[in-house]
Amino acid sequence: MTQDAVPERVDAVVIGAGALGASTAFHLAKAGLSVALLDKAELASQTSPRAAGLSGQLRSHEAMTRIAARSVRKIETFQADTGEELIFFQPGSLKIARRPEHEAQLHEEVARGQGLGLDVAMISPEEARRLMPYLCTEGVLAVMHMRTDVYLEPVQIPAGYARACGRLGGTLLPNTPVEEIVTEGGAVSGVRTSRGEIRARVVVDAAGAWLRVVASLGGSSVKLVPTRHQLMITVPLPEVRTNQPITRIIDANVYVRPEKGGLMLGGYEPDPVQYDMRSLPADFGIENLELDLSVLRRLAENVAVQFPIFRDVALQEHRGGLPTMTADGEHVLGPAPGLNGLYVIGGCCVGGLSTAPALGELLAEWIVQGRPSMDLSFMAPDRLATGLPETELRDLCKLQYAHHYWSPETMPAPV
Ligand SMILES: Cc1cc2nc3c(=O)[nH]c(=O)nc-3n(C[C@H](O)[C@H](O)[C@H](O)COP(=O)(O)OP(=O)(O)OC[C@H]3O[C@@H](n4cnc5c(N)ncnc54)[C@H](O)[C@@H]3O)c2cc1C
Repeated sequence: MTQDAVPERVDAVVIGAGALGASTAFHLAKAGLSVALLDKAELASQTSPRAAGLSGQLRSHEAMTRIAARSVRKIETFQADTGEELIFFQPGSLKIARRPEHEAQLHEEVARGQGLGLDVAMISPEEARRLMPYLCTEGVLAVMHMRTDVYLEPVQIPAGYARACGRLGGTLLPNTPVEEIVTEGGAVSGVRTSRGEIRARVVVDAAGAWLRVVASLGGSSVKLVPTRHQLMITVPLPEVRTNQPITRIIDANVYVRPEKGGLMLGGYEPDPVQYDMRSLPADFGIENLELDLSVLRRLAENVAVQFPIFRDVALQEHRGGLPTMTADGEHVLGPAPGLNGLYVIGGCCVGGLSTAPALGELLAEWIVQGRPSMDLSFMAPDRLATGLPETELRDLCKLQYAHHYWSPETMPAPV
């Protein structure tokens, strides 16, 4: 995307053109605000395009389930809403229990999902294998089928929203790092960038792994932990079809889906690598992230009974990025503590690509109308979980990451 001239003044500056920032910028522009969308790198180039692109609508509580389901509806209507093409597949998803406590978890989730009007049911292991032929059913205790989950090529969301924002008159500024959030009398008055200053009374920090660093440029503190997450894609396999469902194995925290004619596998290891962006060089980009295939090989081994295909198959792709974890597993969204006019959106806990359509819309509602259309207090940027001492924060973030598919009831207590 081309770089526009730096405007002198706009209604809102959005820092970070990943899925969350681009969605917020689009929804602000759609509401009639003049918007500048800035990124220190190319637009849509950092963690978002490296995601697996899965939706998971059934979450651990009602509010987040409603947000995830609203996002899927916005993916279905993306083209009509934005004028941008978006190719997605809707084969649904399978969630597999191999332990009794996870079998109970699935029954609880199905009851809760049906209560919220979602198209979800238990199916037999044999039916699951019919839908996903590479799945072996030995040891499978129970399977949940969520019929409307989607998957897609992830870059489409940030790039589509950024282009649509530009068409609505938004200023697109790739390769324009924000170096300072300028304040006057305890409120935001603009940003200083490498290419000049922009005056604005609203600034959105959607800087992904750098969210905490950017918030501190305005003297605000929001603590979350960038955590490396990786996936791999096999070479094309004869029985893979695009209509095969996303398959998640709860105890192993592993997901599998069709991609590029092969199978994608990603997952959540027990001891992930956590980052402090303040200790990395200023020009660090996600393309410089050190990856480690042995992590994925171990995860594949943990699901070898269900997916023996991963044992000795060649790969066509291995990628990874830095989603951000929070100590309680919830996003952060809303006014930043300590500075009027600064808002944050992040803390995605490896789910910010698929939820970005609704989250960006909700934050835009908050900025434009003074409050969002639903209660988002569980995401408050100034809640206890985002202000914890560093060691406790990192330990809790690791615990959340390592039990990504486990319900709060089945997760071990923090030590
Ligand atoms: C392997 C992998 C698989 C994943 N799978 C899924 C999935 O299936 N479903 C799902 O929903 N999510 C998934 N995720 C998580 C998802 O990718 C993230 O939640 C999401 O991309 C976060 O978006 P973002 O906009 O916050 O971050 P980013 O895309 O990283 O965007 C932040 C932007 O801020 C910019 N920035 C930083 N500092 C500055 C500055 N000072 N000035 C200007 N710009 C700045 C950066 O350059 C960057 O472009 C996955 C992630 C990975 C790595």
